[in-house]
Amino acid sequence: MFDIGVNLTSTQFASDRPKVVKRAREAGVTGMLITGTNALESQQAQKLAEDQPGFCWSTAGVHPHHASEWSTEIASTLRRLAEKPEVVAIGECGLDFNRNLSAHEQQEYAFEAQLALAAELNMPVFLHCREAHARFAAIVAPWLPKLPGAVIHCFTGTRDELEACLALGLSIGITGWVCDERRGLELREMLPLIPADKLLLETDSPYLLPRDMRPRPTSRRNEPCFLPHIVQQVATWRGESSEALAACVDNNARTLFRLV
Ligand SMILES: [Zn+2]
Repeated sequence: MFDIGVNLTSTQFASDRPKVVKRAREAGVTGMLITGTNALESQQAQKLAEDQPGFCWSTAGVHPHHASEWSTEIASTLRRLAEKPEVVAIGECGLDFNRNLSAHEQQEYAFEAQLALAAELNMPVFLHCREAHARFAAIVAPWLPKLPGAVIHCFTGTRDELEACLALGLSIGITGWVCDERRGLELREMLPLIPADKLLLETDSPYLLPRDMRPRPTSRRNEPCFLPHIVQQVATWRGESSEALAACVDNNARTLFRLV
């Protein structure tokens, strides 16, 4: 089972990062993609991945929250990082009209610039979309034929939005959000609609601790070692065995990010 969304550069992991990776391995996680959310963290993510060859890879990108920082210097940093063997996708990039930490125009500009960079470098993209589906779909659609792959991570949209994303050819990343007994119900019902070859799983740790873990972890910090719980729950709601799902999402991640 492969965790495609680990924010391992987070300060929440500062005191025990190697142990977090070790616990994940021991829990049966077979690989992880470390998320880069701005230039500095993308550099840190690449370094962390370099330390765990064959187990960790990373993305290089600028999250919509950081879109106001976008510059030609940052574009060059990402381009340089993308040459490293551990860096397997551009992102996370996209639109977030929920928190609006950068202006919409800045978000759209940085998003489109990263799609262009990914197309130029022939790399897959790791996408973020929150309450911005219409603009997100309009911006990403013309780029998809020029990209080797794309995943919308932490999908939390509506059924119509899921169908639109699948029609565009996007892979769908599902987090422990789906385990939330209130907010996750609609998404839970949609899980069987995702074709097996388009499904990816992720913890998005240290965020989004699954709310239905028993016994409850003592800390609210999420970790990649909790991925087996998400696998088990998603398998149940899809009517599959967790072994088959674990193998399936591992294979999908390796195919999408070209790790095989
Ligand atoms: Zn995100």
